[in-house]
Amino acid sequence: MPGNPGENESRVWLRNTRASLRDLTYDVTAVEVRDAGARLARFAPLLAALFPDEGWDGKVHSDLLPYPMDQAITCLIKGDHALPMTGSIKARGGVHELLCFIEDIALRYRVMDDDVLALAGQPARTLFAEHRVLVASTGNLGYSIGLIARALGLQAEVHMSRDAKPWKKDRLRGIGATVVEHPCDYTETVARAREAARGKPMTLFVDDENSRRLMTGYAAAASEVAVQIGERGIAIGPGRPLIAYLPCGVGGAPGGIALGLKQIYGDHVICVTVEPTASPAMLVALASGDPVPPSVTDYGCDNATIADGLAVGRVSQLALTAVGPALDAAIAVTDEAMIASVREAWQKARLRLEPSAAAALAAVPVLQAAMAKTPGWPSFADSVHLCWATGGARLPDSEFLPMLEEIV
Ligand SMILES: *Cc1c(COP(=O)(O)O)cnc(C)c1O
Repeated sequence: MPGNPGENESRVWLRNTRASLRDLTYDVTAVEVRDAGARLARFAPLLAALFPDEGWDGKVHSDLLPYPMDQAITCLIKGDHALPMTGSIKARGGVHELLCFIEDIALRYRVMDDDVLALAGQPARTLFAEHRVLVASTGNLGYSIGLIARALGLQAEVHMSRDAKPWKKDRLRGIGATVVEHPCDYTETVARAREAARGKPMTLFVDDENSRRLMTGYAAAASEVAVQIGERGIAIGPGRPLIAYLPCGVGGAPGGIALGLKQIYGDHVICVTVEPTASPAMLVALASGDPVPPSVTDYGCDNATIADGLAVGRVSQLALTAVGPALDAAIAVTDEAMIASVREAWQKARLRLEPSAAAALAAVPVLQAAMAKTPGWPSFADSVHLCWATGGARLPDSEFLPMLEEIV
């Protein structure tokens, strides 16, 4: 059990026996995940038309890159930090949820036949302008939802927690979204936003704590990365497991991806969530075994971290119930370790990561040390290490460059 993590020590929870697919009945099915991938592909021409200056085919797709870790291991980075449109992993879940919403509207009002491009036309835009999307965010989810919603002509109202960085709020206002600021944490901000949306007609509330559509949008990334791993000639299987390091906030993104990876690789993938030591929400949920997600404040943590994307004090019930049993380990890393990894990723590979994404890299040596002390785990050296870089390519210089200077 974790006690008060303090600020300067990483923490690890390892499942006693590895999470096994055989013991689980997943709430979110492979069919749902495939549907999400198909929807994102179907709407690619529309996304390309809405964001033409990206010189891009509309596919929500990122590169898989080799990364030179200090340890002599195979380490790969999934480059969602550079995803088109938004520069964060929210371009998967958030965009998928929004596409579901506009697809429903378009079918109901019959403004779309077979051609999704009709949704960029004036009759559809006029219709969308009467609809509103409401979301709570520490930054990236609001930005993704706001950006795509505004591009389609929908109204967007983003409720920001106290962790949200000013530049993310400014950026949202710049694209015509309404930003509502709350002086409270993320969990409370979601509750307030849910209340604000209640009873409002023609409104979608993107519920980060309860949305299967968000989760399946993230899960669709698993088949994408599996193809890329195969293209590199890497065969995951007995003796060559995959270890996925997944930065975790409310749990939707890492949960969805873990689910997708388990559906593909079964027992041969080890799924590890990564959080800040100040906000180890998944770690305390898994370590306590509590079926209702506890708050990190019950464990003496203050939820104050530089990683705004991970500043969540309580994971969602959906993530814990649907995916908790599929998670093999939970790691908490310090703000200092995240910044050191931001700097290292830039120096070694010219990757512009935000701290929330660099957390995945920081977790690798922590897991290595823990596995070395724990019998029954596969060989760390023979494993393929997959660090999910969840955001950062669009960080402005004013945010990014100071991190390169900071003394740890
Ligand atoms: C949202 C986000 C995460 C975590 O996703 P959750 O669904 O909140 O768990 C990780 N990294 C970045 C950069 C994010 O924006």
